[in-house]
Amino acid sequence: MSPGITNVYITTTPRFSCLVIESIKPLKFFIKKIAARKYEIILNKPLIMAPDTICVFDGLVNTVEVMEKGQRSVISVSLKYTCTLEVKLEGQVPARLIILFDRYFLQDLLKNKVIIIDPGHGGKDFGHRGYINLLEKNVVMDIAKFLKQELMNYGAYAIMTREKDLALNIKERVNTAVLLEAEMFISLHTNWDKDKEVNGAKGIYFGKQGKILCEAILMEIEKKLKLQSLGIKEAENLSQIPQSRYIKQIPYANIKVCTISNPVEEGWLRSPIFKHRLAVAIVNGIANYLSRNKKY
Ligand SMILES: [Zn+2]
Repeated sequence: MSPGITNVYITTTPRFSCLVIESIKPLKFFIKKIAARKYEIILNKPLIMAPDTICVFDGLVNTVEVMEKGQRSVISVSLKYTCTLEVKLEGQVPARLIILFDRYFLQDLLKNKVIIIDPGHGGKDFGHRGYINLLEKNVVMDIAKFLKQELMNYGAYAIMTREKDLALNIKERVNTAVLLEAEMFISLHTNWDKDKEVNGAKGIYFGKQGKILCEAILMEIEKKLKLQSLGIKEAENLSQIPQSRYIKQIPYANIKVCTISNPVEEGWLRSPIFKHRLAVAIVNGIANYLSRNKKY
């Protein structure tokens, strides 16, 4: 049988994760649910493209494996949560099979949640500086904007402690959370080390809930961006501020997204795609945290 499958990819919108399968021959297929969170799509044509494993980690689809078995292609999709799906077949030649995995649960988890995003530093306080002169205060602002947009796409109220390049102290930052009765506080920073070889992401938390949130976010960063986790530790400076009791009640996580003193990671931080992927990983971590008492 002549091969037909040319392309397999995922596009993600707030509503759906869309798996697209393209073929230059008419497609026949069937979909098998092989576990609660695993589907196999069996296609009547062998591959033109090479077999592949796509690491998606978009909050719903974890991985997509594209394989060939005899005269057929098998596409195996692993999901993070259970969900409903819709199937569409477009065209004859070329044919396009689209499977829409419903991301409703993310809206359900995040809708109306008041989440404070705190881009570290600002103004005269540059934060850390990379070897090629990248400044922490600017990098974390870019990530914060992506994060805000992602959270708002799911109906959350995402509020930034600063939208401009200005310096704020920790009390002012936390005050935003107190005034808005926020349910979560996410501070964004980069890690720095005098040893250029050190790389990876790190977290600082405050309180029991903060620890769970911080761990959840770091795990997602590790998975999605293949950054190593340098672990988490408890914040020392927060117990002295007047709002300390409040901030201990809500999850507080300070995420050092990666290491700006490592020239490779500094390079990555220049890429908008990388910064957007970081924001998506953080949303995945927040969703993990919020879903821990729910069943999906
Ligand atoms: Zn910092």
